[in-house]
Amino acid sequence: MIGKGSKLYSILNNKCPHCHEGHFFNSSNPFNLRQFDKMENNCSVCKGSFMPETGFYFGAMFVSYALNVALMVTLWIAIEVLAPDNLPLMYFLLGIIVPSVLLVPLTFRLARLIWINIFVKYKGKNT
Ligand SMILES: [Zn+2]
Repeated sequence: MIGKGSKLYSILNNKCPHCHEGHFFNSSNPFNLRQFDKMENNCSVCKGSFMPETGFYFGAMFVSYALNVALMVTLWIAIEVLAPDNLPLMYFLLGIIVPSVLLVPLTFRLARLIWINIFVKYKGKNT
């Protein structure tokens, strides 16, 4: 399974990329719309920085773009395979756009977690 020390553990469990102990985002629920984007500047456990430099998370936009394209292509293929033939284009578009918009908080958080995990290595609990 995916354990501590794996970047996937940090990404999927909303954990600090430095120590895998503290929470990266304040709320563990991405669909709490008042809190989904709130994060501290440093980890509450190891004090590792979540803001390595000004504008660091601009790069997360590219990760977010890739995640959204992957989601939309997956939905498009699922609709193509599962829906009846001659489905009107409007239903096709709604089947792709509505889930993509509803999952924005999740893709936002995943993009930031993936982005910081690209640049930060796991250092263990005692750093
Ligand atoms: Zn930490």
